[in-house]
Amino acid sequence: MAEPATGGRVAPPAREDLRRQLFIDGDFVDAADGAAIDVLSPHDNGLITRIAEAGAADVDRAVAAAGRAFPAWSAMAAADRGRLLLKLADAIEANAERLARLESFDTGHPIRDSRFLDVPRTAACFRYFGGMADKHQGTVVPVEAGFLNYVDRAPLGVVGQIVPWNFPLMFTSWKMGPALAAGNTVVLKPSEITPLSTLAIAELMAEVGFPRGVVNIVPGYGHTAGQRLAEHPDVAKIAFTGSTATGRRIVAASQGNLKRVQLELGGKGANIVFADADIGAAVNGAAWAIFHNQGQACIAGSRLILHRSIAAEFLDRFIALARSIRVGDPLDPATEMGPLTSTLHRDRVMAYVRTAVEQGGDILAGGMAPPDPALAAGCYVLPTVVRAKPSDRVAQEEVFGPFVTVLTFETDDEALAIANGTDYGLGSGLWTRDLARAHRMARGIRAGMCWINCYKRVNPGSPFGGVGQSGYGREMGFEAMRDYTEARSVWVNVDAQIPPFYRR
Ligand code: NAD
Repeated sequence: MAEPATGGRVAPPAREDLRRQLFIDGDFVDAADGAAIDVLSPHDNGLITRIAEAGAADVDRAVAAAGRAFPAWSAMAAADRGRLLLKLADAIEANAERLARLESFDTGHPIRDSRFLDVPRTAACFRYFGGMADKHQGTVVPVEAGFLNYVDRAPLGVVGQIVPWNFPLMFTSWKMGPALAAGNTVVLKPSEITPLSTLAIAELMAEVGFPRGVVNIVPGYGHTAGQRLAEHPDVAKIAFTGSTATGRRIVAASQGNLKRVQLELGGKGANIVFADADIGAAVNGAAWAIFHNQGQACIAGSRLILHRSIAAEFLDRFIALARSIRVGDPLDPATEMGPLTSTLHRDRVMAYVRTAVEQGGDILAGGMAPPDPALAAGCYVLPTVVRAKPSDRVAQEEVFGPFVTVLTFETDDEALAIANGTDYGLGSGLWTRDLARAHRMARGIRAGMCWINCYKRVNPGSPFGGVGQSGYGREMGFEAMRDYTEARSVWVNVDAQIPPFYRR
């Protein structure tokens, strides 16, 4: 698409294109108490818009609407549910440029990422689960003679979904795709910081014909709207993506009705480069692993673990690449790294730079805001490379920014011990030309996902999730469909000859 002449910058979304209300029972509505949230641009902290803020009463209304919609939605032919998801995928593609601009404007994702990753991946995920809806079959169990036992997969009911601010558009599809395909109805709470693309998806859902109440979107704060959703007695499952600390609160809130919980939490991805790796590919891949989306990714390769013999050469090239990354306005197509999503989060990342220094770490690159005065009002941090020790806080805690901690090792066992030396276990990567070592290490790393000679590959068919403090349950693929259904076992007496229990 041709760029409008705005000094290279694409135009932000038109104001009239922004949805500013809650989406409940098929309508955009204000909050019951009229409360509102300011949505700020991470580029300059200017006010984008004010949106309705859902409170507990609004969450209750949304859950009630989803409950009313459940019987018809779950009874609908699976192929018909699938067709609506496929139509939604088409509508997302038809509105791709509008959605990409909205996502970049609200979150700070560089527009090239929103165009080529976020929007296509969102459409692909809805399409995948649209196709899956009528292919997730039950089983027949070979039981004793005279009986038929079949097991089908029943939807759970109303599911609550709570997502963070780092990939709001994509997470609508990861969360809603399998839940809806399986026949559940949904109340989704986007982050209070980045609600706009989720509301745009709700609008498209209404346009393509999703029945009222099947999907409800309630942007609001975590301690109010999120808490109410997690504890709601009529919600059968809560699927949460966010920090480990909040994940624990979700588990506590879920206890009242023993709802199912699925947790996608933080990470501290180990990315190991062995001496025999293709160094050029590893440098590039390691930069992508940490700097894509400003490092705001749970699977980011935030611990770069280098074999001592190649560390110096690798770092020279890696630091040169990090310094060359074009940091700037997310709406500029030339931008490779945008701002962090909020001032609060930028300050959190900068506090980790100070912690690194206090603990004796070396700041090899970045560690500060860009010098460009045009970026001074925004939430920018330069690509930051820090050498540290495995026990340092910056090598243990999730920074969730463009901040990579460099560690070194001598033996494979040592690499594995460092990789497995945090409480997290989500994404991981390794770079080597030795096939046997690659598979041996992939088995040894305690993580839900391991990438060999690549990093951060995701696909709607491939299970995504973590172990340890990174959570439990899996998104994507058949695993996700299983997680949004429960086995229902039906026994049929097919043999009239079976003797009665009481011989009278
Ligand atoms: P967060 O935990 O602060 O917030 C996530 C969501 O939970 C938001 O919508 C928030 O409003 C809500 N929330 C906050 N307190 C709540 C409460 N008491 N009850 C219910 N809901 C509540 O996380 P964040 O800062 O928005 O996101 C960053 C975190 O998300 C990082 O730790 C990152 O690793 C994690 N994350 C994990 C994955 C994954 O798939 N594993 C993906 C992306 C992000």
